[in-house]
Formats: sequence, C-alpha cells, structure tokens
Amino acid sequence: MTSIVASDIDGTLTGDRSALERLRDRFHRRRAAGELYLIMSTGRRLEQVIEGVAAEGLPEPDAVICQVGTEIYLPPFAEDTPPMDAWRRRLLAQYSRREALAFLEGIEGLVMQPEPYNTELKTSCYLDQCSDPERAATEVRRRVEPHADRYQVVWSSARDLDILPAASGKGRAIEFLVRHQGLDPREVIVAGDTGNDATMFREFGRGVCVANAQPELVEACRALSNGRVYFARQPYAAGVEEGLVHFGVLEAQL
Ligand SMILES: [Mg+2]
Repeated sequence: MTSIVASDIDGTLTGDRSALERLRDRFHRRRAAGELYLIMSTGRRLEQVIEGVAAEGLPEPDAVICQVGTEIYLPPFAEDTPPMDAWRRRLLAQYSRREALAFLEGIEGLVMQPEPYNTELKTSCYLDQCSDPERAATEVRRRVEPHADRYQVVWSSARDLDILPAASGKGRAIEFLVRHQGLDPREVIVAGDTGNDATMFREFGRGVCVANAQPELVEACRALSNGRVYFARQPYAAGVEEGLVHFGVLEAQL
C-alpha cells in the first residue's frame, strides 16, 4: 500500500534542520521501497522548492503544488518545467485577474506582494501595514462573498491575503493530482502550520498540525467535525514525523 503524504514546507518541514534531515532520510527510504508518494504543497515557487531540496535538506518530492494550490508540477523538476496544463485550464475558466484586483481597490495600507507571487491565477497582497489587518481581511472577504462560485480568499499569518480561483487551494489541487496519478485520495495524510494549509485538512480530514502551528490553523482543525487531526507535541519536521508515526505511515523508533 502506498501512503500519500502531502506536506507544507515553510514552518512545517523547515525550522529544525537536523529533524528535517532525519525525516528526509526516512522519506527517501520509504519512497525507494515504493511505499510513499510525497507531495509538497507550498506557497513557494517551483525554483525555490528545487533550491530547498539542494540546500535546505528538503526531501525529494514526487509532485509539487505551488502558489497555494494554483500550480501543479510533476517530475522531472527544473526551473522551466511548466505547470500541469489540465489544472491550469480548469482554473483559468473561472478566474479573471482584473476582477480579482478590483476586490482590493481602496483598502488603505494594502501592499501588493512582489510580482512572482502574483500570477494569472493568484492575486496576493500584504495587509500587515493596514491599521487593522483583520478588519481589512474581513472587508475583502465581504466583497468576494457574492462571487464565491469563482473566487476564494485565503488569509494567512495575519499578513498574507490571496484571492484564488474558487476551485483551487492546496486541498483541491492535491485531490486533483492524486486522482490524476491514479492514487487513492483516502490514503492522503496532510501536514501544515498556517491558515493556507486549512483547505488540506478540510479536504482530507487526516493530518498533522505541528506544535508551532498558527492559532488560525489550530482553530480550523478543531472545527472539523469529521477530522482526525493529530496535534503534534513537537514543532516542525519532528512534529511531522511524530504525526506520521501516529498514523502508522512511519514506524516508531526507540
Ligand atoms: Mg507554512
């Protein structure tokens, strides 16, 4: 049986280098045995994931989901690897960057994120310079609400706000990818630390919330009626490892 692990990167895998390298080695052994399909699901761009594998001790993934679930990549991974076209076309059918930008008009203190984080399928800004970031986020949500069939707002870390296609997000992208690869979505176990990971827990129910998780994710996980979320005692990669032992994906080590 192939286990499917879908993990966020920053603050979930990264944060404790030696714990990450221990987990990476365990992942590599399971992958070599054909027992693990590893998905990294991140706000990073693909080139930053490739750099992370080379320089930060990140494990080699089987698939990468970037830009908060708006891009899916399959190997071989290179800087110029194009995202999966079927997913891109599905999202483009419902998303207009011009409309997404209009939802952000006139919000005082709003700063657009740098260009690489703004794409044809992702409109992203910072709200931490606003006098009341939570209120600003609520205002954007209120504007998007009537268009919820096509757009969604993701609010993370009391700073990052993304307007994404309604059908995107980390959870939906993983579901699409897993089915596309002929794998069983019921085998998916997720791991995360902030609000933009909540869609993964909502989609799959089973997941590891690391000890350093932001309150927004802890709340979202506690609110899941059908969820079987493991709240790790340890932070970062050690917490992910602890959770995967709990779910039986990795064996307990004495
Ligand atoms: Mg994170």
